[in-house]
Amino acid sequence: MQDDDKRTVVVTGGSRGIGRAICLSFAGPDTRIYFNYFSPVDPDAEKAAADETEKLVADAGGSAKGLSVNVASQEEIIDFFKKVIDETGRIDVLVNNAGITKDGFLVRMKESDWDAVMDINLKGAFRCIKIAARAMMKQRFGRIINLASIVGVTGNAGQANYVASKAGIIGLTKTAAKELASRNVTVNAIAPGFIETDMTESLPDDVKKAMLSQIPLGRAGKPEDIASVIAFLASEKASYITGQVIHVSGGMYI
Ligand code: NAP
Repeated sequence: MQDDDKRTVVVTGGSRGIGRAICLSFAGPDTRIYFNYFSPVDPDAEKAAADETEKLVADAGGSAKGLSVNVASQEEIIDFFKKVIDETGRIDVLVNNAGITKDGFLVRMKESDWDAVMDINLKGAFRCIKIAARAMMKQRFGRIINLASIVGVTGNAGQANYVASKAGIIGLTKTAAKELASRNVTVNAIAPGFIETDMTESLPDDVKKAMLSQIPLGRAGKPEDIASVIAFLASEKASYITGQVIHVSGGMYI
């Protein structure tokens, strides 16, 4: 059943953290949201988190469907987008948010940790863009927003794999923007600084304190600080912005 008045929004990694706030920022009667999540460690907890995102979106007057889909699996991603297109006939917005860290100093970093981070953070975004862009080009409309990171620009000791994946996201964003602009598809990246989520919660207290001291606005960011900029980039008001990296970091990078 298709309803052409509604926008279809796809968010990767929407079960918690920034991804959940992104889903909420799109919640409303005119939007259908599809998000995915994937945790091989505790599937029951992740399913509960995804159910909570669905509930929060419904409470805000919207609809969201969360599916366990690994962005590192080409087959699962193909099936996921096929379902979205079969059910809605279009993809208006894609937010590539799913990401992980596997930190360690370069000389001790395991090749498997390098590969896992690149496969989810960078190649996962490539897989999703490749499929969504085809639908967007046909529609002559689309908005793609990729989650980079401040460290993809500055570098960060202990995060060679993560930093390389986020620097790669920036290059991917700029190239996709150039390739898709003629079809009215914009592609931008957000570079968050230090945002309060599970990803940063696990950092040691001294590291958190040191990061806070580098933020001119004097506070860590909240997932909503990122989500509101993404909602803007997906809106008609941002139709003349493409290929940009928007830093949302409280001035951590100036
Ligand atoms: P988070 O709280 O750890 O949440 C990550 C989300 O990604 C979860 O929904 C997770 O699903 C999903 N995910 C992980 N691996 C996946 C996979 N293979 N397939 C599908 N989904 C997967 O992270 P966050 O802090 O919200 O970060 C969101 C994005 O912002 C990431 O790209 C991150 O690199 C970027 N970022 C964050 C910060 C920060 O300070 N937090 C700063 C800069 C950039 P499960 O719940 O099932 O695991």
